[in-house]
Amino acid sequence: MESFRLMCNDAIRIGLAGDASTLKRLSKLTYGDLGRYEVPSCYKLCAISKAAGILAARKKSISRGFPTKNPCLSKLLLVSCYRFKIENGSLLVPLGDHKFEGVPLNAHTLAAISQTGVKVRSFTLTERSLSLCIAMEVEEKQVGGVLGIDRNLRNVTVGNAEQVTSYDVSKTVEIAETTRSVVRSFRRNDVRIRKKLAASYGRRRQERVRQILNRVSKSIIAEARVKKQAIAFEDITDIRKLYRTGNGQGNGFRGRMNSWPFAELKRQVEYKAAWEGVPVITLTKGETRGITMDCVRCGERLQEPVRGDGAHHRQLWCEGCKRWDDRDPIAVMNISRRAWLRFVHAKGGAGESDEGEP
Ligand SMILES: [Zn+2]
Repeated sequence: MESFRLMCNDAIRIGLAGDASTLKRLSKLTYGDLGRYEVPSCYKLCAISKAAGILAARKKSISRGFPTKNPCLSKLLLVSCYRFKIENGSLLVPLGDHKFEGVPLNAHTLAAISQTGVKVRSFTLTERSLSLCIAMEVEEKQVGGVLGIDRNLRNVTVGNAEQVTSYDVSKTVEIAETTRSVVRSFRRNDVRIRKKLAASYGRRRQERVRQILNRVSKSIIAEARVKKQAIAFEDITDIRKLYRTGNGQGNGFRGRMNSWPFAELKRQVEYKAAWEGVPVITLTKGETRGITMDCVRCGERLQEPVRGDGAHHRQLWCEGCKRWDDRDPIAVMNISRRAWLRFVHAKGGAGESDEGEP
């Protein structure tokens, strides 16, 4: 592990000096240099690969405008995607000269990796843990429709024209609020301690929120699988721009909106869907512009209720159909319809043919 760390840091140094962050270039520059380490060559390649990952992350931070220090690998670890074996319930870690060190695997891990089609691609060993990276070839399922997903602060609405389900996630707002008020109550005049405490409360919040969203994403995938539907999201990546200082909103509102974990649900749904072969589509901003404000039945532009109209909270008025409709189902039905059009046209994009056609 120590050699691995040193090799990785050597590769990072060389990569920084030679301004290389791709695996190919970095391998060319560093592989010869790592010759002085007496370790199996599989680890040299993996150390270079790890270094390339670290350098790429640094590059990404810089391009996003976050200055970084010179990176280095400080944790002791060992990664390899070559030459390891799994035999008799143990992971055999290569030590060179055809010698191996066995690490026993527990029943859960063995059950997971013995599923049909699952291949172990690499292992990561640290002082206290062992992770296996597994892969599975999954065939994409044939689908007959699309479930639209509309992510809101207090609910996640999922469905299509046939059925709409709403999941209550207001607990995540509560959790975020509690965390904020706890962190705000720290009075000690030591920024390091405050930072540490805030970080630990933040992690706790993240875990609790993740658990709630896990339940939601699990049942979304189950529904998609049973009903043979694809899943469609709306692209809301830049939504935080709406809640920045100086946008005329209150601190509480901005705080709430900025701790809204909208990306986490998508992340979970995407990886679970990939595992099940359920296709996931993200509609571009262009494709979804304004669709949350179009009537599902007649395509008429919908109107917001007047301010202070409590009876029609989160509802919209259609002048064409002369009726109120709930905001969230409208969004998911529109997302589902647009996504299905894109799906049918395959690569042709959503097309304009749906305009005006309910
Ligand atoms: Zn209408």
